[in-house]
Amino acid sequence: MAISIGINNVTRAYGPVRAVDTLSLDIKAGEFFTLLGSSGSGKSTLLKMIGGFERPSAGEILFDGRDVVDVPANKRPVNTVFQSLGLFPHMTVAQNIEYGLRLRGLSGGERARKVENILELVELSGFEERNVNLLSGGQRQRVALARALVMEPGILLLDEPLTGLDERLRQQMRDEFGRLHKRTGATFVLVTHNQDEALSLSDRMAIMHKGKIEQLDRPEQFFQSPANAFVARFVGMENQLKPERLEEVGNGVVAVICGQHVPVVQGARHDPATSLVVIRSDRVVLGENNTDGDQLRLKVVETMFRGLYRDVKLAFADGQTLVMALDAGGPLLSVGEDVVVTLKPKAALLTAA
Ligand code: ADP
Ligand code: MG
Repeated sequence: MAISIGINNVTRAYGPVRAVDTLSLDIKAGEFFTLLGSSGSGKSTLLKMIGGFERPSAGEILFDGRDVVDVPANKRPVNTVFQSLGLFPHMTVAQNIEYGLRLRGLSGGERARKVENILELVELSGFEERNVNLLSGGQRQRVALARALVMEPGILLLDEPLTGLDERLRQQMRDEFGRLHKRTGATFVLVTHNQDEALSLSDRMAIMHKGKIEQLDRPEQFFQSPANAFVARFVGMENQLKPERLEEVGNGVVAVICGQHVPVVQGARHDPATSLVVIRSDRVVLGENNTDGDQLRLKVVETMFRGLYRDVKLAFADGQTLVMALDAGGPLLSVGEDVVVTLKPKAALLTAA
């Protein structure tokens, strides 16, 4: 059975460092939830408190509404897959997986049946008797997952479980997490610094920074209305321009950047003095289209080949720049050339600095 997690004003201090700082968060039963953030932002500390490996300095942690702060880790309906995996090196695959079932007092027959089922789920059928030291990185990863899943936890915690795997395997395992989540129905909480993992798997995700949550939303919302410039940069929206002023036009808002007019989508109301205009590089097209008012005259300052496309860096007269993604088969632009680009609808978003 999936379990909901409530985090209420939780702080974890290590001396003067607040690894997690008065943080509140509700994770729904059965949700795939991701904590995304750079190293040191407090993700693991928060996960460890959910798992019962760390105690909050202040605040409550609730499972289905019940405070579990005093419940030890081994009594919580939680299993954790750590980056280090922590497999028992002298044991076979089956022995590793059935370890927890043994502690629960299940009979040999029951254990063997559960091990067989879970190995099928992680596509390692027939590997029961293998020594875990003789497995590949991806196979060991799947054993660690199987060992957690076989306990049928209401909550599965995954701390950077794919870091260290090669790219192909990372993608394969990532997709596997998605399938396992659907099949088990458990609440999954993933910790990662990898944006692709977070975006492709999460029902909702939180971007953490310095022990706090900068934004909590469905993945697509981070691109449509980033809460602030930090979040926008974190998800790769690096085109951030300082407007001279904002003008109300009809129901909309136009930002004036170096004398040029850019209609902006305004998520929340922002203080014009500290607002930034974020321009999505995928919504800038070369040339003049028939639409009015959303063309910019810019100068090419750099072009970078990216394989399937080309990044073209364009400058305003005041030196502020934006990068657009240009089809690799498109025209070759030279540095110094003046170009006109058109902003597609919702290309520019207003956000807080
Ligand atoms: P993340 O998992 O996002 O990389 P952590 O939760 O591991 O971040 O760490 C957050 C902050 O708390 C960091 O500044 C880290 O140095 C500090 N920290 C974490 N664990 C301890 C500890 N056991 N003792 C002292 N400081 C710690
Ligand atoms: Mg960590």
